[in-house]
Amino acid sequence: PLVLGIESSCDETAVALVRGDRVILAQAIASQEAEHAPYGGVVPEIAARAHAERLAPMLEKVMGDAGLSLADVDAIAATAGPGLIGGVMVGLVSAKALAMAADKPLLAINHLEGHALSPRLADAGLEFPYLLLLVSGGHCQILAVEGVGQYRRLATTIDDALGEAFDKTAKLLGLGYPGGPAVERLALEGDPKAVPLPRPLKGSREPHFSFAGLKSAVLRAVESGEHRPADIAASFQQAAVECLTDRLELALDTAGPFPALVVAGGVAANKVVRGALETLAARHAMRFTAPPLALCTDNAAMIAWAGCERLAIEGRDFAGDALDFQARPRWALDPDADKVRGAGV
Ligand code: ATP
Ligand code: MG
Ligand code: FE
Repeated sequence: PLVLGIESSCDETAVALVRGDRVILAQAIASQEAEHAPYGGVVPEIAARAHAERLAPMLEKVMGDAGLSLADVDAIAATAGPGLIGGVMVGLVSAKALAMAADKPLLAINHLEGHALSPRLADAGLEFPYLLLLVSGGHCQILAVEGVGQYRRLATTIDDALGEAFDKTAKLLGLGYPGGPAVERLALEGDPKAVPLPRPLKGSREPHFSFAGLKSAVLRAVESGEHRPADIAASFQQAAVECLTDRLELALDTAGPFPALVVAGGVAANKVVRGALETLAARHAMRFTAPPLALCTDNAAMIAWAGCERLAIEGRDFAGDALDFQARPRWALDPDADKVRGAGV
């Protein structure tokens, strides 16, 4: 199948045309970094407005680049949540209008499902099941991915997401927004052992993540004035990575084994994170997949791909999601997990 995908849940406006054989026919992405940078974070109102202004020309450009019209696509997929609701609505409403006008099925995609399935767009040999570390700006979860639409959450954060911790660390170090890549760059010049920082929940039999204590410790290290910023950045990154591998070891111990370890989400762009996970996977004789950087951070190819995956499991008479599908600010990939435990989805 051929699916048109739209992403607008945070501060990236993105459109992509993806085919079921993993070919990205055309794509466009516009970051709003410049608009939000003065505020040190994403301002929802500004984001929604920018999505609304950019989406239509980007849709035209992508269709034009591919030399195709809406009549050629099999479905129109858009992020329907979770995310900043104004932005999500802009993308979802546009997709509904296109679906209606072209008489094509609408696919209301969970943004996290886009991240979760993105490794399969990058790696044709990656089969279900796999153990997924989903590390992004709003989420830090370990999921057993058993199939399309079959996600079992094994761990989540009880406070901050890791991307958030990277962004806050960057802010404390005066590196600006977005913080993750800046912290990674500065850490290259630092000593990861220089600053003693906690590894929250390391060694605990409780399966979850916690980064609030690490963030506070970074604040104290900055305020003490005793450390070089590069050492703080490197030590923070090292502590974070050790938390990730420790929690993954526990997940493997309690829910494993898995044939493959996969990382997705914006923090998966971090090379130290990728390296540590690759080592962990090798130690457990697991296949390791990390999507290329452009597929880790928010993009529309992953949304279109999630649409391809859904079409592949639906029957021939599948008509798509209802045109009155509502945008969702919160939307758990594993709804059962929240019944068990109220921690952030
Ligand atoms: P979510 O997907 O949870 O809704 P989001 O869409 O805002 O949140 P992503 O775009 O997937 O998140 O990821 C953005 C996050 O990834 C930011 O917090 C950013 O700092 C972080 N990030 C990006 N690149 C890197 C990197 N090289 N190292 C560490 N963190 C990074
Ligand atoms: Mg972004
Ligand atoms: Fe995301």
